[in-house]
Amino acid sequence: PYDLLVVGGGPAGAAAAIYAARKGIRTGIVAERFGGQVMDTVGIENFISVKATEGPKLVAGLEEHVRDYEVDIVTEQKAAKLRRSELVEIDLESGATLRSRSVVIATGARWREMNVPGEREYRGKGVAYCPHCDGPLFKGKSVAVIGGGNSGIEAAIDLAGIVKDVTVLEFGDTLRADEVLVRKAQSMPNIRIIKQAATTEVNGDGQRVTGLTYTDRAAGESHRLELAGIFVQIGLVPNSEWLKDDLALTRFGEIEIGARGETSIPGVFAAGDVTTVPFKQIIIAMGAGATASLGAFDYLIRESAP
Ligand code: FAD
Repeated sequence: PYDLLVVGGGPAGAAAAIYAARKGIRTGIVAERFGGQVMDTVGIENFISVKATEGPKLVAGLEEHVRDYEVDIVTEQKAAKLRRSELVEIDLESGATLRSRSVVIATGARWREMNVPGEREYRGKGVAYCPHCDGPLFKGKSVAVIGGGNSGIEAAIDLAGIVKDVTVLEFGDTLRADEVLVRKAQSMPNIRIIKQAATTEVNGDGQRVTGLTYTDRAAGESHRLELAGIFVQIGLVPNSEWLKDDLALTRFGEIEIGARGETSIPGVFAAGDVTTVPFKQIIIAMGAGATASLGAFDYLIRESAP
């Protein structure tokens, strides 16, 4: 068995594996796709000490750093079930089982998509999911935020300080965000909120987003907005479906963790976007991966005491 098995090969998983390997313990990493969400990211300008980079470039660096250590890397394999016996057992979809004395789960999350024509085509070309990451790219321009929940209204308030104006499109007839956020957004002169608006298409010129089309659900009419950017804020879904019967998750599916990354099962730690960590960012996921790995190491040295 491994001493520490990491499930997930994004920034959290890579950091956990490196920290474990540096303790000289038997370390493995199993991931569906090395790099995780970073692989889908175009420009990264908030990875501190690196002024600007690109997702695939950062992933190449992550992989090179992990491969510098004795870490068993298993990719293109998906974990399907976690079981706690004497060891922690991870069943893979392929039918194989990996065994380890401790585990760090870092399976990340995925942004919920609108699933309308043009969204995929213009991803990274005006369609964005992360205001902290991509807000400054739209300085002085018009943008829309899709979704009137907490993340949508927070994004609108955040973006309003950078861009020319923000149009929030909410599908329902009320905003689901906290009252204090709604009041703040309503007080800002360059935020406009449209309710009962169903986005039907992302418009572009073949190179970049030029706007969007939505249906006013009350009047049944179709409208177009001219925009440089569209921030989709309709939810972040943790990749934890495979754990729902075995580990304590919040009602949003996030793994509940403590200060050391510990979960509801002894020896099972978690880190990054799949957990209750309040902010979902590369640098935060890496720190969390290091924390969970050190948490697991602490657990192992106590567990093996005579
Ligand atoms: P992830 O990166 O999601 O990695 C999860 C890993 O787990 C992957 O290897 C995946 O294949 C694997 N996995 C999932 N399920 C399973 C399973 N069942 N079995 C095995 N493996 C599994 N953050 C920034 O700081 N700056 C930015 O500029 C930025 N831009 C972004 C742009 C986009 C388009 C997106 C989508 C995100 C962006 N983020 C950015 C957020 C950042 O990418 C995430 O916060 C970060 O990648 C989270 O790291 P993670 O390791 O927790 O999870």
